[in-house]
Amino acid sequence: MSTKLYLATGNRHKAEELARWMEGRGLGWEVRSADAVGGMPAVEENAADFVGNASLKARALAAVVAGAGWVLADDSGLCVDALDGAPGVHSARYAGSGASDGDNLSKLLAALEGMPEERRRAAFHCVLCLVSPEGGERFFEGICPGRIIGERRGGGGFGYDPAFVPEGETRTFAELGAETKDRISHRGRALASLAEWISRDPS
Ligand code: IMP
Repeated sequence: MSTKLYLATGNRHKAEELARWMEGRGLGWEVRSADAVGGMPAVEENAADFVGNASLKARALAAVVAGAGWVLADDSGLCVDALDGAPGVHSARYAGSGASDGDNLSKLLAALEGMPEERRRAAFHCVLCLVSPEGGERFFEGICPGRIIGERRGGGGFGYDPAFVPEGETRTFAELGAETKDRISHRGRALASLAEWISRDPS
């Protein structure tokens, strides 16, 4: 019987990226959204860092899954050097609770308006928390350095993608396409480290 993996996220874009990556690697894990167990429970993401918030989300869904499979949560965000690491863990609600991705990106572009090229360094961070059916937790991290440009470019991805150019590229995440983003993104890197762990310990 294949191993079931429940995704502890209510963010459709993250769920798509996580499922696409896991299914594309042929790891033999059956990936299911939180909807398969009644939806992602509401979680107050009040931890001080990505690790703490990833754990809160993974544990909340693990309580529902109740040992029927593994659970994977993603906590991620964008840290901008010139803003002392903001929006960081507040990335999803940078422009206020209930803000859309568009609102958050507008606020970021306004905050960096007129900022010279050398002060536009930023990095996406992703922490994945994997909870085993027995309740053990493991964490996998991925970072993608880059810079924030002064405008929106491209129609792919989500969140801050239209203004983020990863290091070594000239196009934004929203222009690069899913395959390239999955290979170099913070989430792709964290997933690669998870996949490496699975290949060592397939239990
Ligand atoms: P979380 O649900 O608290 O982890 O919030 C993650 C937020 O960070 C998202 O709502 C986006 O604003 C941002 N974010 C995380 N990963 C990405 C990405 O791959 N592209 C663009 N924005 C992202």
